[in-house]
Amino acid sequence: MIFAANFKTNHTRTSTKEYILKLENLVKNSSDEFYIFPPTSALQSSFGKVIIGTQNAYPTKNGAFTGEIGLEQLEEFSIKTILIGHSERRTILGESQEFIAQKFDFFKNNGFKIIYCIGEPLEVRESGESKVIEFLAEQFNGIDINYENLIIAYEPIWAIGTGVSATNIQIASTHKAVKQICNQPLLYGGSVNSSNIKEVLSTANVDGVLVGSASLEVENFHTLFN
Ligand code: PEP
Repeated sequence: MIFAANFKTNHTRTSTKEYILKLENLVKNSSDEFYIFPPTSALQSSFGKVIIGTQNAYPTKNGAFTGEIGLEQLEEFSIKTILIGHSERRTILGESQEFIAQKFDFFKNNGFKIIYCIGEPLEVRESGESKVIEFLAEQFNGIDINYENLIIAYEPIWAIGTGVSATNIQIASTHKAVKQICNQPLLYGGSVNSSNIKEVLSTANVDGVLVGSASLEVENFHTLFN
């Protein structure tokens, strides 16, 4: 199984270092895969089993992109993993599908492992499963779904940070449809916590989870894979 933690705009460089040290200790005998996405200021090189990735980067080696980081800054820490398409970047930061596809291509061409996020807003979910699948299919526009270093994360927007996870029936049917579009490892994300993790991981076509809030304390994250 794959366990990925998205810290978003939480944790400092110091607290991230402490977190990773503790996590390394907890996962050393595990056969699962672990990814941590700290904020940019806390990026550091991976030194053990836990793979450290970036929540974002601009599709450039370097240049005049105020406030962004590029390949050169990631290379300093040997970072080769990136989250692309997270709903907070699509909606709050206004990233278009066209820009996301450009970013995807750039990091694919540089051999990155990409965790590519897709997910529908509540009004689409409320219009029925076939509308959800149509919506998700559009989020693959311009994306090389056969890229060998790709993991997909299905994260319904209405489930992110709300405490309301998708039901296992919704996850099962949506994951089945997503796997038919793109046959890659597929994570579920959206209010995963210690109460629902067993059910989520036992759902068909779930290869792991992408976790926000419940990953912020290492002890709490540990309960998900313990
Ligand atoms: C996320 O933002 O990727 C996420 C899954 O957040 P949360 O677990 O807090 O819903």
